[in-house]
Amino acid sequence: MRKVKLAFLFACKAIGLFRIMGWVTRHRLRILCYHGFSLSDEAAFRPKLFISVERFEKRLQSLRRYRMRVVPLDEAIERLYARALPDRSTVITFDDGFHSFYELAVPCLKRYGFPATVYVTTYYVRKAAPIFRLVVQYMFWKTKRRSIALVAVPWSNDRSVDLTNSEERAKVVWECIDYGEQRCAEDQRRDICAELGRLLGVSYDEIVKSRSLHLMSPEELGSLPAADVSVGLHTHRHRFPADDRASAEREIAENRAELDRCTGRTAPHFCYPSGSWAEFQWEWLQDLHIKSSTTCVPGLNTAGTPRYALLRFLDGDDVHELEFEAALCGLSDLLRAMVSVLSLGRGVGATS
Ligand SMILES: [Zn+2]
Repeated sequence: MRKVKLAFLFACKAIGLFRIMGWVTRHRLRILCYHGFSLSDEAAFRPKLFISVERFEKRLQSLRRYRMRVVPLDEAIERLYARALPDRSTVITFDDGFHSFYELAVPCLKRYGFPATVYVTTYYVRKAAPIFRLVVQYMFWKTKRRSIALVAVPWSNDRSVDLTNSEERAKVVWECIDYGEQRCAEDQRRDICAELGRLLGVSYDEIVKSRSLHLMSPEELGSLPAADVSVGLHTHRHRFPADDRASAEREIAENRAELDRCTGRTAPHFCYPSGSWAEFQWEWLQDLHIKSSTTCVPGLNTAGTPRYALLRFLDGDDVHELEFEAALCGLSDLLRAMVSVLSLGRGVGATS
């Protein structure tokens, strides 16, 4: 199926449809979304979460080739709603604030002279430790062991786990994550990870040393070039609960305070953690004086797009260059709309 899709996109590009669509959608705002960068094999582990810097650089080359105008987020939002957006405006955003963003993406963006926004979730900024749930998943992905014997680990009963069985494997991964997240302090989580590394034959110390699953440190955050990289809100603990307004507001307040301490800058824009949101939360954001919020819903933005539901293209290491270009020029939007009309037509046909 993927091959058919790519062959179709190749044909569309060959007959000049990418260029035509780029012209048709030139007044719309493109917002690109990235997360972390691969310092070793993270892109193979989670290709939607990590991308190689080589692939990222190719994307920046495509932006130049299509003569996209990369603008800072704040300026893009102001001009979008003032209906004064320059043609082919594009914003580049990064979620979470990984150390690898600082190490690999910032120098790359600088070479191209492109501004960007990084939405930072701050809990792990001062922890100097890898993100717990991510490192647990990574170690289970990395291990060459086919089975492990759990004996006297605090997070599970004694048993043998067949790691070649994907269901059993997923169950044990979440058992460990849930225990660590719900019942442990960060020090205890580190002990769990070190012990897990020994069980799985994966060096936890090496992961810590590489900082591949770390967020930026306070010093790194503070030394981001203010003229090129703006900082955005992403909550303190990467959650924005729809069923608890007070807790959601606390998340923003703690996130804001920590970003202010590290950077001395205000962060007026927000990105929903895990892309989950509800329309009634827009009022909360307005009361918190937040100027815009980005989602993980794909598409290009117009002045009619709600400012608290901005659309973004989620790029990753598993996205083919043709898919990226199709999204950039707006062809993906057109295809999605066509598919939706066709499936609606089929639905009506089935019921009538
Ligand atoms: Zn996030």
